[in-house]
Amino acid sequence: MPYRVTLLPSSHEFSVAEHESVLDAALRERCSVLPYGCRNGTCGSCMATIQSGELVYPDGRPPGLSEREQAEGKALLCQARPRSDLVIVAREVKTGGDLIVKTLPCRVEQRELLAPDVMRLFLKLPNTERLQFLAGQYVDILLTDGRRRSFSLANPPHADELLELHIRHAPGGFFTDYVFNRMKDKALLRFQGPLGTFVLREDSLRPILLIGGGSGFAPLKGMLEHAFYIGLDRPLHLYWGARAKVDLYLDELPRRWVEEHLNFRYTPVLSEPRPEDQGLDRTGWVHEAVAADYPDLSGYDVYMSGPPPMIAAAKPVFTAQGLPAEQLFYDSFEFAPR
Ligand SMILES: Cc1cc2nc3c(=O)[nH]c(=O)nc-3n(C[C@H](O)[C@H](O)[C@H](O)COP(=O)(O)OP(=O)(O)OC[C@H]3O[C@@H](n4cnc5c(N)ncnc54)[C@H](O)[C@@H]3O)c2cc1C
Repeated sequence: MPYRVTLLPSSHEFSVAEHESVLDAALRERCSVLPYGCRNGTCGSCMATIQSGELVYPDGRPPGLSEREQAEGKALLCQARPRSDLVIVAREVKTGGDLIVKTLPCRVEQRELLAPDVMRLFLKLPNTERLQFLAGQYVDILLTDGRRRSFSLANPPHADELLELHIRHAPGGFFTDYVFNRMKDKALLRFQGPLGTFVLREDSLRPILLIGGGSGFAPLKGMLEHAFYIGLDRPLHLYWGARAKVDLYLDELPRRWVEEHLNFRYTPVLSEPRPEDQGLDRTGWVHEAVAADYPDLSGYDVYMSGPPPMIAAAKPVFTAQGLPAEQLFYDSFEFAPR
């Protein structure tokens, strides 16, 4: 039988099964509301105060919780299993700015060429570490000479065993040349994150338009997978702009989401279709397709990510079609300053 958890001072409520940790239940129902770090009872980031109720630790008191803290009513929510309804006083994460920005080493666990110029990397953190982030945020890869390169997290926060990046090759680019030409299996990297405020605003009731150009699909993938996971029932319409069919490097994924989620629509738009692409998808610029389909944007939240020229071209068009500035969110994939 599930127990009820009430968080104070917010009064947020969720249910937690007997075998499940309070943090896992919070992530399942309202992902990322509670802060966390290692998720193995060591770092103490998820410490909160139990105001009432009983809980147990199946493997004994976790290393990150002292005897004294336990006696004072503190608990580590990543390990705590409920034995009654609980009232918990806890700090909650509301925006990306509330999260701890970490500098971490990682290993490239898997590399996968998704398109001629897009590589998917899966990054593995040290066993004692987890990265808490909000869907849509990015990390900075730290290069040896102090330079940094930004890449969006393509996985949703609940699936954080490995971090997923979609890296487009900028020919002649310092880091992406390395990724495409010289990176070895199990290569080691260092990064800083999570960064950015390009995150899903869950408190809005408006339908959502998501517009990605090329590898701008990456943060939108994370946002959509998060939205499906928490059961967001607002209409979601993804437009994915690319040159040709081959550049829609995970096209089958949003096509599958259309089958699985009644509130989701998908419109791929090709700007330079090859002869074999003719008649398959919409053609033209992706923002023009959105503008044609939604002449009045005043009632929408719009999320855009991808090449700076796409963002620059779309903004005035969407504004002219009634989109208020506070309903437009975007990450423009700028190159790092030289
Ligand atoms: C918030 C954010 C999120 C991002 N997310 C993603 C993502 O998820 N996926 C993704 O693919 N990209 C993303 N980007 C873009 C990504 O950060 C850049 O493509 C990346 O930094 C390129 O790194 P690089 O070292 O390969 O290129 P750089 O070395 O920075 O070079 C960039 C370009 O400039 C040219 N160049 C470099 N030096 C010179 C020079 N001296 N003279 C003339 N030309 C030069 C290079 O040939 C290359 O074409 C994101 C950017 C931001 C800001």
